[in-house]
Amino acid sequence: MIGNRYGTHRVITPKGVLPQPAWKINNKMDILYDNEILVDVFMLNIDAASFTQIKQEVGADEEKVAEKIMKIVNERGKMHNPVTGSGGMLIGKVAKIGEALKDKAKIKVGDEIATLVSLSLTPLKIYKIKKVHLDTDQVEVEAKAIIFESGVYSKLPSDMDRRLALAVLDVAGAPAQTARLVRPGDTVAIIGASGKSGTLCSYVAKKYAGPTGKIVALVHSKKHSKHLEELGITNIAEIDATNAVETEKVVSEFTSGEMADVTINVVNIANTEMASILSTKDYGTVYFFSMATSFTKAALGAEGVGKDVNMIIGNGYMTDHAEIALETVRESVELRRMFESLYVN
Ligand code: NAP
Repeated sequence: MIGNRYGTHRVITPKGVLPQPAWKINNKMDILYDNEILVDVFMLNIDAASFTQIKQEVGADEEKVAEKIMKIVNERGKMHNPVTGSGGMLIGKVAKIGEALKDKAKIKVGDEIATLVSLSLTPLKIYKIKKVHLDTDQVEVEAKAIIFESGVYSKLPSDMDRRLALAVLDVAGAPAQTARLVRPGDTVAIIGASGKSGTLCSYVAKKYAGPTGKIVALVHSKKHSKHLEELGITNIAEIDATNAVETEKVVSEFTSGEMADVTINVVNIANTEMASILSTKDYGTVYFFSMATSFTKAALGAEGVGKDVNMIIGNGYMTDHAEIALETVRESVELRRMFESLYVN
């Protein structure tokens, strides 16, 4: 039995849409289509915007967060946060490969993999939530998931702890896109710079901007900026990115009014579009990696203040993004130490 390569055969409502925008998908694990892969899941990485929203809604309480995750997955057949619209990703062991994929798949039964497509489209059945890590957005589970034929995944590297690889791969698109966008001599503003993707982007931006470039790291609290200093980032300022005018002022001070060639938004909260747009010079680029970004707010907001900036939606997928992200962590002793201290215990 061959299903649709994008997984539309598992869409329950509304009919005719792809699994990501669907409200509910079929997460029955007793039937495996010939072009699906079944995974025994051991850990979820809930998307940061989604995890933050859940904690805001139910409180930073392990049991309540677990209940909320279970409720969403039972209702929708996937971990698709109805408020943020975002998902996350998972790691697990390949349990079965459908007949039609046996020769094509670059993995075999027993391999440990990370999915590189969102949990917001991945059929997921959670049997038990064993532990919610409130500080890292990671959730240990007994669960099963399905990867569709078009799904993207990566074998877990043998030289890294699983939790470290999960954390890095969750945001793999961000450092890869930063490497593509930043040119020698660029001024780069990073909003949310001390977070997971923020730190990776800061390292990559510094590398690609080179000695004539400038990195302006904008953090919510300087408490979390020690790691940035270890990466050699010197222009660090505390801001609230929901305050666009204050953020613009800070970037202006650091750049003598020139503003940024590239602004990277990696926050985990809503309403930061205008801080990013105002921090960027005309004809510059804003890269919205944050899942809390509103297209409407960005488009109408930029128009409203007369800013001629290019705005890029943070596509989670890029060619070789997993390898680029893992290599970035291998390359920098400081980055690896930081990620290990936060994600491996
Ligand atoms: P993270 O580690 O939680 O980092 C988010 C950062 O935002 C934190 O450093 C946080 O600072 C900062 N922040 C929160 N409120 C702020 C405010 N008012 N002003 C300034 N900074 C603020 O998140 P992540 O895992 O790197 O993810 C970053 C974003 O990327 C999230 O929105 C996530 O959903 C998104 N994402 C997108 C994709 C994609 O495919 N495009 C994939 C994965 C993740 P404090 O901790 O000090 O508050």
